[in-house]
Amino acid sequence: MKISSLFDNRPQFSLEIFPPKEHTGGVATIYETLDGLKDIRPAFISCTYGAGGNLADSSTIEICSIIREKYGILPISHLTCVNNTKEDIDIILDRLKAAGISNILALRGDRRPDVPPKHDFEHASDLISYIKSRDPEFSISAACYPEGHPDSDSIVSDVLSLKTKVECGAEHLISQLFFDNEDFYRFRERCEIAGINVPIEAGIMPVTSKQSIMRMVSMCGASIPSRLAKILNRFENNPAALEEACIVYATDQIIDLISNDVDGIHLYTMNKPYLAKRIFSVIDTMR
Ligand code: FAD
Repeated sequence: MKISSLFDNRPQFSLEIFPPKEHTGGVATIYETLDGLKDIRPAFISCTYGAGGNLADSSTIEICSIIREKYGILPISHLTCVNNTKEDIDIILDRLKAAGISNILALRGDRRPDVPPKHDFEHASDLISYIKSRDPEFSISAACYPEGHPDSDSIVSDVLSLKTKVECGAEHLISQLFFDNEDFYRFRERCEIAGINVPIEAGIMPVTSKQSIMRMVSMCGASIPSRLAKILNRFENNPAALEEACIVYATDQIIDLISNDVDGIHLYTMNKPYLAKRIFSVIDTMR
């Protein structure tokens, strides 16, 4: 099933997980995460690829196969291109096809200073065009940035680049995390003006510690509004209170987004099912 066809009914609720690191037990531990997430009945679960500067995760495809075969949930396999050649991408596409995975979140990814550059793909749009020309049966999603991508000169040029991704074949967009819904609403308006008319899911991340969220926003360029900054400062040395406050903050963001006709909510679960379950216990009746 194509992800984009899900959005005939809105809003949709989806989840992101990442391949567990070897030192935390590797792929075997993903069952625990998925056991915890399955009752949420997500529209799909996406699995990251090479995130955080790691090189290719062969486990991404394995995990997407588990999501599909063992849990009967639709998977989206993330795929980055900046550290891959066309030959590398061909091998991955063949593996995805053989595993029956037809939905891909096509991304540029980030260059690593310790890895010699590969120049077959400069932008996600190059990867999207390549996949579509090789096998139009793949359904492609892409990333978008309510506050603009950190590399872009302006929010306008970023939205124009986003339009290129859609013209190349992206049928569905998932946003970077954001903490002020007004940023998302302004971005959605700009997309509409630019003629981007594919479903846009809002990426929501429940904060679990001040340190980890500060590291995350320094990498992705998202801003921390003063309401959240005050929560982080007040409870930084009380992890239980911080987590409770931030679950409420994320839930509040989601309720407001649903009330403003969002196409979908994509929850960054960080492989912590209990966080997702707490949030969904409140919003379940709003589907
Ligand atoms: P692009 O779309 O290529 O955009 C990058 C920059 O180039 C932007 O400034 C854009 O405006 C500009 N640009 C884009 N197209 C053009 C063009 N044709 N001409 C000129 N300029 C252009 N990273 C991982 O490593 N693994 C993951 O699994 C992963 N999952 C993610 C999931 C989501 C939902 C999001 C939002 C991000 C994810 N990332 C992941 C991070 C992502 O790889 C980085 O944000 C990366 O820096 C940009 O990727 P992109 O696909 O948005 O790139």
